Amino acid sequence: MRGVIMHAPRDVRVEDRPDPVIEEPTDAIIRTVATCICGSDLWPYRGEDRVHDQPMGHEYVGVVEQVGEDVTHIKVGDFVVGSFFASDNTCPICVAGYQSRCVHAVPMGPLGTQAERVRIPLADGTLVATPGYPDEEIIPSLLAASDVLGTGWFAAVAAEAGPGKTVVVVGDGAVGLLGILAAKHLGAARIIAMSRHADRQALARRFGATDIVEERGEEGVAKIKELTDGLGAHSTIEAVGTQESMLQAIASTRPGGHVGFVGVSHGVSIPGRVLFPAEVHLMGGPAPVRQFLPELISLIWDREIDPGVVFDLTLPLERAAEGYQAMDERRATKVLLRP
Ligand SMILES: [Zn+2]
Repeated sequence: MRGVIMHAPRDVRVEDRPDPVIEEPTDAIIRTVATCICGSDLWPYRGEDRVHDQPMGHEYVGVVEQVGEDVTHIKVGDFVVGSFFASDNTCPICVAGYQSRCVHAVPMGPLGTQAERVRIPLADGTLVATPGYPDEEIIPSLLAASDVLGTGWFAAVAAEAGPGKTVVVVGDGAVGLLGILAAKHLGAARIIAMSRHADRQALARRFGATDIVEERGEEGVAKIKELTDGLGAHSTIEAVGTQESMLQAIASTRPGGHVGFVGVSHGVSIPGRVLFPAEVHLMGGPAPVRQFLPELISLIWDREIDPGVVFDLTLPLERAAEGYQAMDERRATKVLLRP
């Protein structure tokens, strides 16, 4: 089969890879219908994470081609969505709703979903089947549920976005934008997007942002305070993962408020002298997307949300390298790949 390999920073190629096979009786093999490039794939692409001959991709929707003998719920022919961590969905951590930290969690990245076929461990726990084969028009939205939508949703829930709340969103990548969609769906009264890119501001407004703040750092925080009677937001979504964005998120939140942080941390360290007086709740980490998948699939199936519009470039899998380049140069927000 064909699949993406990142040999080194900025060296992405589509090559022949061995077809996956059932290794454990709880595995399934899917034929990938759509996959995509994640903002987090840019960390190794830019040389900020180590990378050497690595299969890439952790987002996927597809059709089940084969199941192991212990798989009972998922059937051959099902159209399925799964998250970037395989999980059993039965251990105490999963039952509590934190499937990305399942005691048997398997990260999907090393298996590489930017490929024609993928082995899905713990298939019964990991995969959620859609009610049928989806219309072409909602496939991008179902794919978004696999990571960016699920992650933005978790961030909004972790930030306790809800009716009457003012929500600030730090980060205008796909996750931040879908955090806006989630906050809107959860009933937030006011949603302030921090963005300085015109195309992303437009999408932010489409998803429900009521205000845009272009300033960053201390100036950005001052602007948030100005818009919130000097108090700060009730709920802040942090969707970048840098020191600046994390401190900006904490400082934008009022005492007693909540920060939902989902940007993969790179060099973040929170000084006690900042954290202690802030008096905010911090909740975040790798989003337990699996917890939200049934609800998200149902909202997409019923055309109540359209997260798939974050994909602004679609390419055949064979042209994945162009997709990485477009995202790196910010010519694309999110790139969908079709095998
Ligand atoms: Zn588990």
